[in-house]
Amino acid sequence: MSGMIGKIQDKKIFSITIIPSSWCNFRCVYCYENDHYKIKNMITTSEMTKRIKLFLENNIKTGFFRKVHIRWYGGEPLLDFKTIIDIMDFTNSIGKTYKTDIIGEIITNGYLLDIVKFKILLEKGVKIFQVTIDGYKDAHDKLRPLLNGKPTFDKIFENLIQTRNVTDNFFMFIRSNVMPDNLDSIKKFLDLASNYFSRDRRYYFTFFPVTRSGGDNDKNLKVIEPKKRMEIIQELYMYATQLGLNIPDKDTLLQIDGVPAMDDLCQALYPFSIIIRNDGKLFKCPLTVMIDDESVGHIEEDGSIVLDESKINRWAKYILSPLSRGCPRLHELGEVVGVEAE
Ligand code: SF4
Repeated sequence: MSGMIGKIQDKKIFSITIIPSSWCNFRCVYCYENDHYKIKNMITTSEMTKRIKLFLENNIKTGFFRKVHIRWYGGEPLLDFKTIIDIMDFTNSIGKTYKTDIIGEIITNGYLLDIVKFKILLEKGVKIFQVTIDGYKDAHDKLRPLLNGKPTFDKIFENLIQTRNVTDNFFMFIRSNVMPDNLDSIKKFLDLASNYFSRDRRYYFTFFPVTRSGGDNDKNLKVIEPKKRMEIIQELYMYATQLGLNIPDKDTLLQIDGVPAMDDLCQALYPFSIIIRNDGKLFKCPLTVMIDDESVGHIEEDGSIVLDESKINRWAKYILSPLSRGCPRLHELGEVVGVEAE
């Protein structure tokens, strides 16, 4: 296992996740990001933007990294679009100076991803998108409503359809979270999606079972029995393939050339991977980003970072364990692991 980590380190990819807004315009029933933490950090202040830029510059300047992969995450990252563009512009220019590739990725609920924003993001080097649709509107709108309870399916799907007319290359991962009650609705959604996205090498469909991931609503969540999960997920992949929809394979991941995705390694264990929340707190695992006590350090005024060794070791201890290829966090929460949970 340590050999594998060494091999991954040799790729010299810096994987940085930034949370520009902890706030979210959705209230998904299975969300693990509790409101109490969200509300504190709605957008990124100019002081914190400055610190993040310095952090990026300090690291790119070392010349050690071949590539910097910036992943925008939330909350809903598009609620602070201005910060995304500002930091992408800055990083692209520093990357040019120090001959370091910069690639952007965004994980968004898709509601605010209109065609104007989509094109701007592409222009700024954000080439990888992940949008979640949990079935046709009957199921999706119940599972992923707006904060005020209103439906979201139609707008997200329309946003996705608009992206087809763009000639640039990009990767659009359309993810469905699978629960006992939305399986048929996901198939209905795939039937619809196949009319628009079949055989288009820019769109990929993925499926993940919903797990109890530490959210307030965990005790009320209906999840698929652990021993049935693999079979149901495979059934959906087969269904999508039969409709001519793409599912991600090794080639796709190779094209993206990211870590840890292509190496199937937990992001928290990859040494050159850090999550920056917009109050300057640092984390290793996306499932813990709204829990202050899980912070592994913070970012200083000059862009340097201060790490708490014991908090880092909390993740490092899993490196030699079989859990490194599953999900240590879900294991800690008493969930069955083996299927990536982000
Ligand atoms: S695999 Fe699990 S523990 Fe690792 S980063 Fe993802 S959610 Fe966190």
